[in-house]
This record gives sequence, C-alpha cells and structure tokens, in this order.
Amino acid sequence: MKVMKVDHIGIAVKNLEETIKFYTDILGLDLQDTEIVEEQKVKVAFLPIGDTEVELLESTSEDGPIAKYIERNGEGVQHLAFRVENIEEAIAEMQEKGMKMIDEMPRYGAGGAKIAFMHPKSSYRVLIELCER
Ligand code: ZN
Repeated sequence: MKVMKVDHIGIAVKNLEETIKFYTDILGLDLQDTEIVEEQKVKVAFLPIGDTEVELLESTSEDGPIAKYIERNGEGVQHLAFRVENIEEAIAEMQEKGMKMIDEMPRYGAGGAKIAFMHPKSSYRVLIELCER
C-alpha cells in the first residue's frame, strides 16, 4: 500500500452554513461543493486547500455517526483521510498486518470516493480513513 497524500481532513461541525462562512469569509477558501451522503446521515462541504481539502461534516440526523461524535467529543477534527491507489488491496494489507478495520469492505464516500475507516484502536486514536478516487 502506498499512501499518496492527505486526501482531506474531516471536521465535525454542528452548523454547516455557519462554519462554511468561517472558512470562506474569514480564511478565504473557496467552497467547491456540498453533498448529502444518506448512508452516513451527513451533509458534507468540500473546501480545497492546495493539493488537499477540508471536508466539513454536519449530521442530518440525531442518531448519525457525526452527531454521536459531537456528543462525545464536541466539534473539531474528526478524521484524516489518506489517499491510496487501490482500496481493496489497502484493506487486505492492513488486515494482514493485524490492524482492525471498521470497514472490511469499501463503501461509498462523499465526492464519489471509495472509503474504509481503520479502527482508532489500531491507529493510536486517530480515526484514519483510507480513500481511493
Ligand atoms: Zn472523509
């Protein structure tokens, strides 16, 4: 497996519209797109920064994973996404190396990516998303 770059930084927010204003009006980033990922009960906004991007995540439901995350940890950086060439191979390699995967099969991620989360117990409490696009 070769990690090619930091694909994006996932940030959990309570209010997407309000947070977007901070990143655009204050920091001067451009909002590229927003998307609702039904399966994850999340509304996502993408703001490119050079070769990577910020991904803002607002829960669309009180029982969604991002809502639960904010309940436990508050708003803030939620995950780091590393781009890999082949997600199936990356998952298999991580499992061979004894890493625990939350997703043993790739699933649909925002922006048409194929993604799989590693279990934070295997990655020193950083939630790492492997991402192929
Ligand atoms: Zn992500």
